[in-house]
Amino acid sequence: MIIGVPKEIKNNENRVAVTPAGVYALVKAGHKVLVEKTAGLGSGITDEEYRSAGAAMLEKSSEVFREADLIVKVKEPLESEYELFKDGQALFTYLHLAPNRPLTEALLRKEITGIAYETVQTADGALPLLVPMSEVAGRMAVQIGANLLQKYNGGCGVLLGGVPGVPPADVVIVGGGIVGTNAAKMAVGMGARVTVLDINASRLAYLDDIFSGRIATLYYNEFNMMTIIRQADLLVGAVLVAGAKAPKVVSEAMVRTMKPGSVIVDVAIDQGGSIETVDRVTTHDHPCFERHGVIHYSVANMPGAVPRTSTYALTGATLPYLLQLANLGPERALLEDHSLLSGLNTYRANLTCAPVAEALGKEY
Ligand code: NAD
Repeated sequence: MIIGVPKEIKNNENRVAVTPAGVYALVKAGHKVLVEKTAGLGSGITDEEYRSAGAAMLEKSSEVFREADLIVKVKEPLESEYELFKDGQALFTYLHLAPNRPLTEALLRKEITGIAYETVQTADGALPLLVPMSEVAGRMAVQIGANLLQKYNGGCGVLLGGVPGVPPADVVIVGGGIVGTNAAKMAVGMGARVTVLDINASRLAYLDDIFSGRIATLYYNEFNMMTIIRQADLLVGAVLVAGAKAPKVVSEAMVRTMKPGSVIVDVAIDQGGSIETVDRVTTHDHPCFERHGVIHYSVANMPGAVPRTSTYALTGATLPYLLQLANLGPERALLEDHSLLSGLNTYRANLTCAPVAEALGKEY
């Protein structure tokens, strides 16, 4: 099979869908991999590295789309790419079709077999191709928070870990899923006092087990949140109700009671935000704003700041699926693997993902 890897063209997107390790594995399995020149540069991967792993480097994305049977990307195709698709081609990438009617129509019109990373789901309900980005964002949340707490960045000037004779800062994390757990790991590692709130008792029990007493866990309810937020130096919003808008777990009244110069990192901003005062999506260029004396950070694509780590994290998770698609051919691979099949969003001019069909008012 011929696999095509075009360069990402979305603003500030520096990730790439296949690394030299992926090229090596695909070529070894008997496939041909076409990579657009400079596709890996944003992630620190040179054309030479791809070539030595066995890829053929093509000058233009149009050539990659024209030659390949299966296109692998990171972000959803943008308008200028719609016409590059060949009828009946397969596509494996983040698609996020629910809010994107033009892209959905384009994929249906071209009868694309569209497999979305974000809906690939294993039998236990996990979303293995979303997890790596949550891990990155969770870890970044504390690194960014620590930085914003420094005086010259507008923070109150505390060091997360304190020093001997001076107590550590308080990190409060709402939502103890993938983002929350990874934020807790970083905060514990930096020596902070950490409290994680969640509504899921078994999740709290799990966290209590794995951190063996190094964090405090707390049932999320309004009263507990109202109480704990007063002592927070850094608050991380990390809740998720799958497929829904993020619940507002922290009210504006609660934010007013926070210490001056404390910091909020609302990782759940990509689902609408979990903190009432976070009323906008910010960018890596202008990541922060201030409200009630508290610094707010609400960048929706946090992993974009560390494309090299993010590329290797994402491709590590996608490669086994990509190999299956290439080795068996998309149709057989989809039939044989239910996780992959749950990723199928469009097939032969049909919408094959119920939530997407519902969001767009289309037939499923
Ligand atoms: P997850 O499903 O692993 O964890 C979410 C946790 O929130 C669960 O443990 C759940 O029990 C808890 N929760 C749900 N409702 C709650 C409530 N009302 N009060 C307290 N806890 C509640 O999800 P995740 O992978 O950790 O993702 C968290 C959020 O981070 C999602 O919105 C995700 O899209 C987002 N995210 C953002 C970025 C970014 O760049 N900003 C990157 C990756 C992930």
